[in-house]
Amino acid sequence: MKISGIEIIAFRYTSRVGRDAEGHAHPSEPHDAVQTLTRIATDEGADGYCFGGSREMARLANEILVGEDPWNRERIWQRLRQYQRLAKTALSDHNIGVLDMALWDLAGRVTGLPVYKLLGGYRDKVLAYASTMCGDDLPGGLDTPEAYADFAEMCQKQGYKAFKLHGWMPPYGPDPKRDVAACRAVRERVGPDMALMLDCYHDYSREEALYLGRELEKLNFTWFEEPMNEHSVSSYVWLTQQLDIAVVGPETAEGKMYTRAEWIVRGASDISRYDVAHGGITATMKAAHLCEAFGVRLEVHGGGPGNLQVLGAMGIPGGYYERGLLHPFLDYEEQTPWLKEVIDPLDSEGYVHISPKPGLGMEIDWDFIAANRIGE
Ligand SMILES: [Mg+2]
Repeated sequence: MKISGIEIIAFRYTSRVGRDAEGHAHPSEPHDAVQTLTRIATDEGADGYCFGGSREMARLANEILVGEDPWNRERIWQRLRQYQRLAKTALSDHNIGVLDMALWDLAGRVTGLPVYKLLGGYRDKVLAYASTMCGDDLPGGLDTPEAYADFAEMCQKQGYKAFKLHGWMPPYGPDPKRDVAACRAVRERVGPDMALMLDCYHDYSREEALYLGRELEKLNFTWFEEPMNEHSVSSYVWLTQQLDIAVVGPETAEGKMYTRAEWIVRGASDISRYDVAHGGITATMKAAHLCEAFGVRLEVHGGGPGNLQVLGAMGIPGGYYERGLLHPFLDYEEQTPWLKEVIDPLDSEGYVHISPKPGLGMEIDWDFIAANRIGE
């Protein structure tokens, strides 16, 4: 089998999620948005799909991947990684991830197996945490510590066993004392048994981060995420040495699993972090095995079908699937109208079950895409 072409399918949908000045998501008025779907086609008629990708990515991928054997995912991944050095936009880590996941989807569709079984399955379900949007100024949204507590209680009633606050960030913050007040209000509301985490403003000073971490320890939080610029590895070494609470990272830092290796060696965090937007399933499994060898936990960042398949194949914790981002004004399950069914349904015990369907497990709504398709 050979790759015969890479295509971008673009379509419109109505989004109720807007972005603030730093790109963080919040509820907004319904507006037109564009989603893309990457299709990798083969000379034998089999296809693989992954949502995301750009036309610029597809142009370059057609130049370098047509004629390759789609079963050679590792060879293709190494080729893309090397080519990325001089093509950082077209072959961003995110786009390499899309191409890699479309190849995994193709393999699953050909064999009739979900990706996590192809990788070597470990579990069929994973505990989820409710992951909030960042704080805002919407009355009754996420505008006060009390509002966070109300939302945490609502999630607890839905079955969630864990809840992660994203604190206030510009233009609504930051303010470490207000973050702590929200964390305290949530802990007091949900009681001692719910696992709680904080992902706060990512550019606090060392002193602010240390203050936050010590307050979270008093509230028995499970982990503390990205309170400072992740390019300052020394700041994370400094923080991690002083705190008992688990520091998680790096999340957004570039450099794939190589960066995670350096953080582990330097003791810059207690739990490592990776996701499929940093080079796909192939890269995330490399990070998982790296962490396993060092006896370090890996918490998978973000949701979606690729991350879920990886969680199904990780023999080390990864304790949780990040379900979100959630907001009291939004129905999370209505945010992917291009799928016939939600990829990460939550059961009453707080688990998300991994789809047993082939490939990434997506039921793509081709009628919706055809009705809303836009320009070539
Ligand atoms: Mg985060």
